[in-house]
Amino acid sequence: MTDITHYINGSTVTGTSSRTQPVYDPATGDSDKNVLLASASDVDTAVAAAKAAWPKWSKTPALRRARVLDRFKSILWERADELAGILASEHGKTHDDALGEVTRGLEVVEFAISAPSFLKGEFSENVGTGVDSHNIRQSLGVCAGITPFNFPVMVPMWMFPVSLACGNTFVLKPSERVPSASLKLAEWLTEAGLPEGVFNVVQGDKEAVDALLNHPDVKAISFVGSTPIAKYIYETGTSNGKRVQALGGAKNHAIIMPDADLDMTANALMGAAYGSAGERCMAISVAVPVSDVVADALIEKLVPMINALKIGPTSESDSDMGPLVTAQHREKVSGYIDAGEAAGAKVVVDGRNYRQDKQGFENGYYIGGTLLDNVTPDMSVWKDEIFGPVLSVVRRNSYQEALDLVHSHDFANGTAIFTRDGDTARAFSQDVEVGMIGINVPIPVPMAFHSFGGWKASIFGDHHMHGMEGVRFYTRIKTTTTRWPDGQRSDAEFVMPTLG
Ligand code: NAD
Repeated sequence: MTDITHYINGSTVTGTSSRTQPVYDPATGDSDKNVLLASASDVDTAVAAAKAAWPKWSKTPALRRARVLDRFKSILWERADELAGILASEHGKTHDDALGEVTRGLEVVEFAISAPSFLKGEFSENVGTGVDSHNIRQSLGVCAGITPFNFPVMVPMWMFPVSLACGNTFVLKPSERVPSASLKLAEWLTEAGLPEGVFNVVQGDKEAVDALLNHPDVKAISFVGSTPIAKYIYETGTSNGKRVQALGGAKNHAIIMPDADLDMTANALMGAAYGSAGERCMAISVAVPVSDVVADALIEKLVPMINALKIGPTSESDSDMGPLVTAQHREKVSGYIDAGEAAGAKVVVDGRNYRQDKQGFENGYYIGGTLLDNVTPDMSVWKDEIFGPVLSVVRRNSYQEALDLVHSHDFANGTAIFTRDGDTARAFSQDVEVGMIGINVPIPVPMAFHSFGGWKASIFGDHHMHGMEGVRFYTRIKTTTTRWPDGQRSDAEFVMPTLG
């Protein structure tokens, strides 16, 4: 068994805690690694390193900070394959999917490299006679990131490249289920020239998270994970005076209008529902065909495609989807299908009995793709986030009924509409109360230079991640008003200055 360590002050460290947890390869069900679970004192060491590194890093010209990130980006391009292999071996997603994840993370680094541009301030000449005013964005200090299992590379990279580019130092607490990739990122940042202590990793669970939430030197927390934990992070962090952005769970609906291109829609739904075994916060988990005719035609197209899904280990290049992340998660997903069936949903394709017969992978956490029809809003398969390869069909008779269904859910991360009608598409994108919208695009994940985030119970806090929203989150604005002596005596003024 090897230990997966922390990374503090430019080196791997084992810390003080004796608590550990096994890390599994979901493709085989084997474990030959333990992740160390940090104590509050380990978190303290990491925060102290980040705090000590901040004054110098924050005053390093943005251009130089960007150059470090530029070298880091080159390393990522060269070693993307290695990183994808590491993350997939703990998550279970296919290698190509993992490579896609690395690329989406790398794009945030590309955005962050433009820091000298996005940190440019504003200047107003003559806000009063002989008086000028300018504002700048300055870093906050030590920022922390707490991330979920489903994107071990991309989600941390929604956070730290922008945070570092803005002049902050950072402590990352990755998911304890997929801890290894974060150490590679830390090593490669150091190799790219990042000074010691600017980026640190503490492995751990609730104990480490609570230590970050309660640490007086942590100024801001970025979180991505499930909604109950996101709410807890937001409430605890803000009550301790920190800035918090906490992104939560999702239940993403795709509305299929009668005029949709059904072949395109079926293909889009296959990738969006079953890609990464449904373990994506932007996965489409509910299909809402408008009319029974559309529902029947869509299901007829989907069934053979789901039955033909190639389910296998990440190491096999023709796998469409891999296993779920843990044995417990597979049980949970299977339990939801049971509950849906018991509540009256029709199990059109049943993934529960899927068995992986490839030699060496029989004990992996595989489950087959599942399609449920006649799902209704009172069922747990509609209400809860299943986070597995399960697509529920909720039939509706009009656009308005479909829109009402989307609005009746607490989650509002992403949604999509499939239609050929521009007017319907435009009305949908204007009216729907969801953060990220796809028009004939099933997984509308915004690019790095835009910002990612949902609405309602899918987010707590005011700022989405990366893009200019990330810059706003990781900086505070300072405004300076300047007057130079003009050689004439001025008398003191006691009324509210109006300058002009
Ligand atoms: P999770 O909430 O269980 O864990 C996320 C992080 O919180 C981990 O680092 C974990 O160690 C920590 N954590 C877990 N329980 C805690 C507790 N009681 N106290 C303090 N910290 C705790 O989420 P997960 O299972 O790793 O990830 C899946 C979830 O993440 C899904 O709900 C998914 O929708 C969501 N997610 C959302 C987005 C988004 O952008 N909205 C993106 C990816 C994933």
